[in-house]
Amino acid sequence: MSTIDYTGLYIGGSWQTPATSERIDVHSPTTEDAIGSVPASSPRDIDRAVTAARRAFDDPTGWSAWHPKQRAEVLDRFATELEGRASEMSRRVTIQNGMPIWLAEQFEGGFPPILLRYFSDMMVNSPEVDTRPGMLGGTALVSRKPIGVVGAIVPWNVPQAITFLKLAPALAAGCTVVLKPAEETVLDAFLMAEAALAAGLPEGVLNVVPGGREIGAYLVEHPDIDKVSFTGSTAAGRAIAETCGRLLRPVTLELGGKSAAILLDDVDLSASMESLFAATLLNNGQICWLNTRVLAPRSRYDEVVDAVTALAASLHVGDPLDPATKLGPLVSSRQRDRVEGYIAKGKAEGARLTTGGGRPTIDSGWFVEPTVFADLDNSATIAREEIFGPVLSIIPFRDDAEALAIANDSEYGLGGSVWSSDIDRASALAGKVRSGTVGVNHYSNDPVAPFGGIKNSGMGRELGPEGLHAFQHLHTVYLPPAG
Ligand code: NAD
Repeated sequence: MSTIDYTGLYIGGSWQTPATSERIDVHSPTTEDAIGSVPASSPRDIDRAVTAARRAFDDPTGWSAWHPKQRAEVLDRFATELEGRASEMSRRVTIQNGMPIWLAEQFEGGFPPILLRYFSDMMVNSPEVDTRPGMLGGTALVSRKPIGVVGAIVPWNVPQAITFLKLAPALAAGCTVVLKPAEETVLDAFLMAEAALAAGLPEGVLNVVPGGREIGAYLVEHPDIDKVSFTGSTAAGRAIAETCGRLLRPVTLELGGKSAAILLDDVDLSASMESLFAATLLNNGQICWLNTRVLAPRSRYDEVVDAVTALAASLHVGDPLDPATKLGPLVSSRQRDRVEGYIAKGKAEGARLTTGGGRPTIDSGWFVEPTVFADLDNSATIAREEIFGPVLSIIPFRDDAEALAIANDSEYGLGGSVWSSDIDRASALAGKVRSGTVGVNHYSNDPVAPFGGIKNSGMGRELGPEGLHAFQHLHTVYLPPAG
């Protein structure tokens, strides 16, 4: 099979020769074969990218000074170019990280153009100035300005959708961006750069510099970056927050999670299974908001364990390019080791394995069987730490109050859900879950509403108007009293 290889870096609106000959090789998690490579950025490439973004932002007649409608026209062309590449984009993500292709088509091919148009429209329809009659006789003119040059750092699990949670509002607001994709998923980022080039994004407005943790840290610390937007692990988020704290640099952090699905005693189990799959095991268990703790009422505990076990055991595990596959491989052998380590810990701590726990019999690839543990409480390691793989824990509770206490007993607070035949009852309980987002009888991130976490899940929000505001700063002009 031919590989996908790039020689240049997208910096300053064109493909530039990288400063060094270092490369990033990408392997398929399904076949374990090499599938492509791109140049690895060095600090000198980051310098060039940030300089290009700075120059584009500071141009007094450039991108940041354009009317939102002018930017919207360019971003609409960008969306159209992405649409033309949607099926190749989905395929590239699937062959790099193992995301089932049907999901990649929705998240990775479908979502980015929607987000570009959503935030462009929001910007076009935002009032330019809020005129406030003052208390001191004058008038205050309050407006939102683009925050500046953005350093955006993204993980490998949902690479394009997460990229556009940042790019779409940042570009619509008038910011310029230096994007650092994760090393595992670079081929999609380069296809995205091809779309940006074809759409005629002005020079320096978007720059793509792949690399690892050191390059990410270098970007975060760069003196010409005005704002950092990060999605990834809590450990990396903490390190980035420390740097940004020292530099007094605004930062948005979307980090890990250990969310709970609370199944109330009147839940309609058979009607819930498809949505419960999406809330708990989507993308091979590699999404930050997944509800990997399933809380079940003691009165129906065995029934829930049987239903969730049957659900997990029924999933078709295999080649993620096959549309029938529900669960593909994990992104890397390192990630599989990590997940298997947690499965071993679950057993060692006395939880009862009801299905999975091993590797499926597939010739190659970093697969783990969908795995369910029962008969454990919320103090077990596998109930407290983020596993980032297809492993669920079913924890019993006595009543709604105890369910809430268990759900809230976590270092994380990103997602969650409540399942019941009574929407009002579920919604009332959902309102008490200490977390950034909670679903009722399903979980999905609607773009109109803010998404993000509290506690170790991060700070700041993406999506909705709040996601646009994250790339703006407030600006006030005080007009003097009349006369
Ligand atoms: P990771 O933190 O190791 O890497 C994420 C990105 O950050 C990569 O691009 C990496 O190169 C970069 N990076 C790592 N350390 C850095 C540092 N010190 N400074 C700057 N950049 C750095 O995360 P991962 O293991 O690749 O991704 C999985 C994690 O991401 C999980 O914990 C998951 O919960 C989290 N995640 C969160 C969300 C969310 O929206 N809350 C979404 C997806 C993934």
